[in-house]
Amino acid sequence: MTDIFSGQIFSGQTGALIGDTFTQAAQQYALTSPSSGKEIARVADCGVLEAHQALEASIAAFATWRKTTAYERSSLLRKWFNLILRDEQSIARLIALEMGKPVTEALGEVRYAASFIEWYAEEAKRVYGEVLPSQFGHKRLFATKHPVGPVYAVTPWNFPAAMATRKLGPALAAGCTVILKPAEQSPLTALKLAELWLEAGGPQGVIQVITCSDPVAVSGVFLDDPRVRKITFTGSTEVGRILTRQSAETLKRVSMELGGHAPFIVFEDADIDRAVQDVIACKFRNAGQTCVCTNRVYVQRNILEEFTAKLSVAVAALRVGDPLIASTQIGPLVDAQGLAKVKAHVADALTLGATASVGGHALEGLFFEPTVLSGVTADMLVMREETFGPVAPVIAFDSEAEVIAAANDTPFGLAAYLWTKDLARAVRVTESLEYGIIGLNDPVPSTAQAPFGGIKQSGFGREGGHWGLDEYLYVKYVSMAL
Ligand code: NAD
Repeated sequence: MTDIFSGQIFSGQTGALIGDTFTQAAQQYALTSPSSGKEIARVADCGVLEAHQALEASIAAFATWRKTTAYERSSLLRKWFNLILRDEQSIARLIALEMGKPVTEALGEVRYAASFIEWYAEEAKRVYGEVLPSQFGHKRLFATKHPVGPVYAVTPWNFPAAMATRKLGPALAAGCTVILKPAEQSPLTALKLAELWLEAGGPQGVIQVITCSDPVAVSGVFLDDPRVRKITFTGSTEVGRILTRQSAETLKRVSMELGGHAPFIVFEDADIDRAVQDVIACKFRNAGQTCVCTNRVYVQRNILEEFTAKLSVAVAALRVGDPLIASTQIGPLVDAQGLAKVKAHVADALTLGATASVGGHALEGLFFEPTVLSGVTADMLVMREETFGPVAPVIAFDSEAEVIAAANDTPFGLAAYLWTKDLARAVRVTESLEYGIIGLNDPVPSTAQAPFGGIKQSGFGREGGHWGLDEYLYVKYVSMAL
C-alpha cells in the first residue's frame, strides 16, 4: 500500500463522487488541518447543480440496486469491509489529518467503522418476512420487507468514517441507494471510503458523496424532492430540528442521532481507580468531542476528594500534541468555533466559583489543556450544554435519588454512565435513567450489533443491530384470497 501523504499535503481524492465519477465542481473550498492550521486540500464545493445530478443518479441506481439479491449485496459489503481494513492505516491518518483525532485512536475508529459494514454484510441475508395465520380458510397473509428508497445521509466531523458506515452499512444491506453529505470539515475520509466501494465493485450511483462548504442549498434539493424517501442525520440537535421540519413537507422517513449531555455517576462503592480510568476513556477520547462523552461527572461526596485527586493526576499525564504522532492522546479542537465554546464554558465555570485542579487554559492554535473542574454547580454552562472539549466538570452528590434527578434534568437523553458494585442499586439507577444508552461500569458501550440512539432531544431512531436495518425497510402486507 502506498502512503497517500507527503508531509501534511494530501494527494488523494478531493472531487465529489457523482454517479461513478469523482468530479471537481465549478468551485472548490480550502480544507485546513486543525493541528497545523495549514491548507491540506481543495475540495469540490458542490452546489444545487451537482446535487440534482446526484439525485437523478441515485434514483436511477435504486431501480436496479433494489432488485439485487441479499446475497449479492452481502458479498459486495464484505469485499468493501476487507478493503477498508486493508487501508486502515491510511484512513486513520486521513482522519487525524482532516479533523485532528489522534491517529492511534483514529485507527480504532476505522475498525469500528468497518465493523458496521461487516455486521450488515451478514445481516443483509436475514431480512425475514412473516406468514400470518388467517381466521379465514381461503386467505393467506404475508408481511415482507423492502428498501424504503433513495436515502440522504448527513454526517458530522467527529467520526468521519464511523458515522458514514453506521448509515451506509444498513442502508446498502437493505437495498437503498445513498447520497452521503459529509461535514465540511471532514470530506476526505468519506471520499476515500467511496473510492474503496468502487474498487470493491460497487455499482454506479449506489453510494455518492456530495462535498460542500455550505450544506443548506445542497440539502434543500434532497429534502424537497419526494423521491428521496429517507433522511438519516447525525449532528447537533439544532440542525436536526431544522432537517426534521424540512422533511415534513414530503413526509420522509427520518432518523435523528443528535446531541448528548451524558452524566457519569460514581457511587461510593465503586472501584475508584477503575472509575478514574474510565472517565479518561469516556471523556477525553477525541478531545471530548463525541456525542456520548460524559459532560458531567457526579461523585458521591465521601469519595469526592480521593476521586478528584486521582483524576487530576491522570488528566495531567495525558499527552497533548500532533494527532499524526502515534503516542498523542489529545489533539486539537476541530475548529475555532469549537475552541471558543470550550473557552466560554471554562471561563463561565471559573467565574461562578469552580476551580481548575488541572488545565483550564487554551494552548497554541486550536489546542486546549485537558482540564478537571471542581467546585462545579448546576447553574454553570458546563452542566447544561454539551461542551465538546477536553473538560471534565466534577460535582458532588449525596443521595441516589438526588443524583438520578440531576442526571435526568436535561433536554437530552443519549448516553448515561454509572459506576457501582451494588447490584440492586445498579438495576434501580439503570431503570431510572432516561437515556437511550447506559454504560454500567462501561465507558464505551457502542458496538455494531447493539442499538445506538437517544430519546428526548437527542433524537429518534436507532443505528446498529437489527434496529438499524429496520430504519431502511418498510413492511408490505399481502393478503391473498384463494
Ligand atoms: P452540525 O449539526 O453542525 O453538523 C452536522 C452535519 O449537518 C454536517 O454535515 C453539516 O454540514 C450539516 N448541516 C449543518 N447545518 C445544516 C443545514 N442547515 N442543512 C443541512 N445540513 C446542515 O454538527 P457537528 O458540529 O458536525 O457535530 C457535532 C454534533 O453532532 C454534536 O452535537 C454531537 O453530539 C452530535 N453527534 C451525535 C451523534 C449521535 O449518534 N447521536 C454522533 C456524533 C455526533
